[in-house]
Amino acid sequence: MSLPVRRFDAVIVGGGGAGLRAALQLSKAGLNTVVLSKVFPTRSHTVAAQGGISASLGNVQEDRWDWHMYDTVKGSDWLGDQDAIEFMTRRAPEAVIELEHMGMPFDRVESGKIYQRPFGGHTAEHGKRAVERACAVADRTGHAMLHTLYQQNVRANTQFFVEWMALDLIRNDEGDVVGVTALEMETGDVYILHAKAVLFATGGAGRIYASSTNAFMNTGDGLGMAARAGIPLEDMEFWQFHPTGVAGAGVLITEGVRGEGGILLNSEGERFMERYAPTVKDLASRDVVSRAMAMEIHEGRGVGKNKDHVLLKLDHLGAEKIIEKLPGIREIAIQFAGVDPIKDPIPVVPTCHYMMGGIPTNYHGEVVAPAGDNPEAVVKGFYAAGECACASVHGANRLGTNSLLDLVVFGKSAGDSMVEFVQNYGDWKPLPENAAEFTVNRLHRLENQSGGESVDAVRNELQRTVQAHAGVFRTDVLLKKGVEKIREVAARVAKTEIKDKSRVWNTARIEALELDNLIEVAQATLISAEARKESRGAHASDDHQERDDANWMKHTLYYSANQSLTYKPVHTKPLTVDYIEPAKRVY
Ligand SMILES: Cc1cc2nc3c(=O)[nH]c(=O)nc-3n(C[C@H](O)[C@H](O)[C@H](O)COP(=O)(O)OP(=O)(O)OC[C@H]3O[C@@H](n4cnc5c(N)ncnc54)[C@H](O)[C@@H]3O)c2cc1C
Repeated sequence: MSLPVRRFDAVIVGGGGAGLRAALQLSKAGLNTVVLSKVFPTRSHTVAAQGGISASLGNVQEDRWDWHMYDTVKGSDWLGDQDAIEFMTRRAPEAVIELEHMGMPFDRVESGKIYQRPFGGHTAEHGKRAVERACAVADRTGHAMLHTLYQQNVRANTQFFVEWMALDLIRNDEGDVVGVTALEMETGDVYILHAKAVLFATGGAGRIYASSTNAFMNTGDGLGMAARAGIPLEDMEFWQFHPTGVAGAGVLITEGVRGEGGILLNSEGERFMERYAPTVKDLASRDVVSRAMAMEIHEGRGVGKNKDHVLLKLDHLGAEKIIEKLPGIREIAIQFAGVDPIKDPIPVVPTCHYMMGGIPTNYHGEVVAPAGDNPEAVVKGFYAAGECACASVHGANRLGTNSLLDLVVFGKSAGDSMVEFVQNYGDWKPLPENAAEFTVNRLHRLENQSGGESVDAVRNELQRTVQAHAGVFRTDVLLKKGVEKIREVAARVAKTEIKDKSRVWNTARIEALELDNLIEVAQATLISAEARKESRGAHASDDHQERDDANWMKHTLYYSANQSLTYKPVHTKPLTVDYIEPAKRVY
């Protein structure tokens, strides 16, 4: 069966912050560009970002981009690539001011400049004191940013295919990317989108965990598509747990609450972070705070009937500040925890939040993969940016507010790289004969499968497995069992059955197709984690408690086809400054 073909200069899969920032470069350059999104673009997960976007503007206290760079390298536990980190932190002030000029309605300080608040791991003079680096729009920064970028794209005449789902990546015999297959949800029609350049900006995959702050649509589609097409996935063992998800609900309470002065308490009313991070206390980086909370709960100082969470106290900030700076948080606390933070503390627990790994790229947004003896050969025509990409600026642990920054800096650089590539491209490369085959077979199986399990049942098992075996604390035995279990789950994914075979808006089919992506991400996570015999950033092993730079300061690459791993070196050469030498990570 062949599929109808539509042609574009560039196809962008994803209408979140990264996709929209890239699209702007392409549309402004006059290229025929389309942005695909499973949801209306302004409903992408970027809209949920609360706390802020980092930049060393120094609007409150002195700040410098090289301090930001140091903090990001340290936050990454020395797994981040220092060239990419320099690129991002140096460009941060310009990127934020660009957003301001696009009309993003930042909060203001007295002088009229952009308001900035402290955030975990962001410090002055290499850890001496916390610094105000997070530029914020109350506690709705992502909302303001996404709407600003969307409006700029409307003005630049970007085309949108809304409620379209990309299904598979198309590569030709040389391995170049020449398009994607995609499903129009409203009609059930499937197309080949033939392109000179393809950007994946498909966001995170937090839905591999049972408890997550991520939207339901965050199923790692970009990673699944890339992995099935033979592209390796990088550093998939590193998942960030946010310290403050609402206990029981998973909904995020921004770190901005602690930035504004909120503190964590155990069942004895003790501010326990004073013991774990004497200098910056509740504002240590996320992996450190999450582990401290897990320790308190583990040692019996958890709060509540089951002693399974701790408390986030902010009533001492006063009603006025809470209402002005954290209105969304107050709403969430009342709705999901049944407490008004003006009077009572919020019950919180570490919750899966962010994927540090992803599709390997360089800081130009080009996808790279090993070829011959080059560990980072460019895959022609293929780009990735945002949470689905691994540049790698976050290494083993991301600092809060560095993701929104990552989206706009690398969205823009990927967009610029694509413009240059497309302008020198010539005519479209022919599609391979079997361009549609893989997708057609997937759809055919779903159409004809009988006697299989429901998608819901298998997805729940997947999420339970990842949650239990690749959580805040990991052990060799737990991970090994996890790998076995997730392989069993994978066999079940291949046989799921959907009862509803209709075409129009068939959400059952969409969820089954998403499950194919979740399982790629889940297997990559467990297999990569099982192999890494050290503790670094978010990967904390009880059996190997120290960081082991001699053996493990390297990036993992996972290949889906034979579930094998290889490794590649961390970039230790920044662009202009000196290498930041590894040190012990204390806050
Ligand atoms: C609750 C929450 C709060 C956060 N707060 C902050 C913060 O304050 N500061 C910060 O720096 N970071 C924060 N983060 C992290 C940050 O918001 C995300 O990492 C970032 O927004 C991801 O942006 P993105 O553009 O990569 O993807 P997203 O915004 O997730 O967008 C992904 C897009 O891809 C589309 N898509 C996916 N699959 C397909 C497919 N198969 N076909 C077509 N389209 C597809 C989706 O429709 C969507 O448009 C937060 C995250 C969460 C979950």
